[in-house]
Amino acid sequence: MSTQVVVVGAGYAGAGTVKSFENAIEPGEAELTWVSEHDYHLVLHEAHRVIRKPEVESKVAIPVEEIKADDTDFVKGRVTEVDTDERVVRTRDGEEVDYDYLLVAVGSATAFFGIDGLREHALTLKSLDDAREIHRAVREAGEEATTTDPATVIVGGAGLSGIQSAGEIAEFRDDHKAPIDIELVEGLDSVFPNNDPEVQGAIRKRLLEKDVGIHTGEFISKVDEHAVYLGGAEEAYYGEDGNGSAPEEEEIDFSDDLVMDYDVLLWTGGITGHEEVEEFDVDADDRTGRVYAESTFETSDDRVFAIGDTALVEQGDDEVAPPTAQAAWQAAEVAGENLARAVRGAPLKSWQHEDKGTLISVGEEAIAHDVQGVPINTFGGPGAKVLKKGVASRWIADITGIGRAVNAWSDM
Ligand SMILES: Cc1cc2nc3c(=O)[nH]c(=O)nc-3n(C[C@H](O)[C@H](O)[C@H](O)COP(=O)(O)OP(=O)(O)OC[C@H]3O[C@@H](n4cnc5c(N)ncnc54)[C@H](O)[C@@H]3O)c2cc1C
Repeated sequence: MSTQVVVVGAGYAGAGTVKSFENAIEPGEAELTWVSEHDYHLVLHEAHRVIRKPEVESKVAIPVEEIKADDTDFVKGRVTEVDTDERVVRTRDGEEVDYDYLLVAVGSATAFFGIDGLREHALTLKSLDDAREIHRAVREAGEEATTTDPATVIVGGAGLSGIQSAGEIAEFRDDHKAPIDIELVEGLDSVFPNNDPEVQGAIRKRLLEKDVGIHTGEFISKVDEHAVYLGGAEEAYYGEDGNGSAPEEEEIDFSDDLVMDYDVLLWTGGITGHEEVEEFDVDADDRTGRVYAESTFETSDDRVFAIGDTALVEQGDDEVAPPTAQAAWQAAEVAGENLARAVRGAPLKSWQHEDKGTLISVGEEAIAHDVQGVPINTFGGPGAKVLKKGVASRWIADITGIGRAVNAWSDM
């Protein structure tokens, strides 16, 4: 029997690795099995478009059959166990897939940081179902509200997903003249925290132009059925002890202006590892559950590799690769080649993430920052929009073909 290679996950990391491995391996050298929870790849970094226009899902959900080669097997299932002794992955439905080499690329889950009520009451955006659910909730809230008593949609977390989701909700509101107030809440001092003030300012300006309220510098401490309570310390999230547990309620003085009523709450404030990954026989960070991987993507088990949001991929100087689509896409090209090298017993390649810049949408507008090969540091307008569309379309063209990319262009 030829060497069995298994890739788990159909995101940027998994789909990209499948393509790259198929290109790197010679016929007969190995058999590839691709396992994922859904039988489509979701272009997650454009999933927020579905909030405004549910019909965009046909552009951002791409069947695996259109991605993989004919002789790559696909198994639909959620992997709940990786057994490194038996070299087998097991799915929730009881299916077993043997491997000689395994790549884990199951992405990440939303982090709730132990904040009281947040998990129970907030919507999240990690899947197509999530995007459909946010659309439904926003639409219904708008339908039930009036101009004198508008609905309030709160988006918690002003990173890539929070900003872009708020932008789409604002477009929805304007397209449908829906009486909705949109409030973006970020605990740190600025939107798009820990980034260049120039791009933060550009994003802030576009959000305010789209009539999105911005509240920075106060962390969410508690959530109930109707309201979000601000006033938590940063330690509540990141933890003096590293646990990220929220402070006791009695420690917080909830003055009136720190309570925000909501009709729809969307939480995008952080990522963590999937719970199942704890059951995988590889070393992971205790706090986040993300798997430790070297720059070759090897984990604590030399038959198991990990990339994308699932992994903390070493980049030297105590740095790890960022949890972005851009990083997963780049890593996947090398990971596929490394799986082929592992099959042949050849030395593995080391990968270094290269930041090619930031492209971020605020509804119909886009902002480009520090984009490789572009002399202007930060800009919006048609140029930024074309670059943003170009990146999503290039990814779609890379994994399927130009036809799908052209078809998706208008909605990216
Ligand atoms: C709204 C939004 C906007 C974003 N915008 C940007 C952006 O502009 N630029 C950028 O670079 N990044 C952006 N990101 C981040 C980016 O989408 C992620 O970093 C990227 O998706 C990570 O890729 P991945 O392949 O590791 O994981 P994912 O894309 O999440 O894929 C994980 C895959 O694994 C599958 N899976 C999960 N668990 C299991 C399991 N147990 N068994 C089997 N299969 C499983 C999932 O179904 C999925 O197919 C955005 C994210 C969001 C949510």
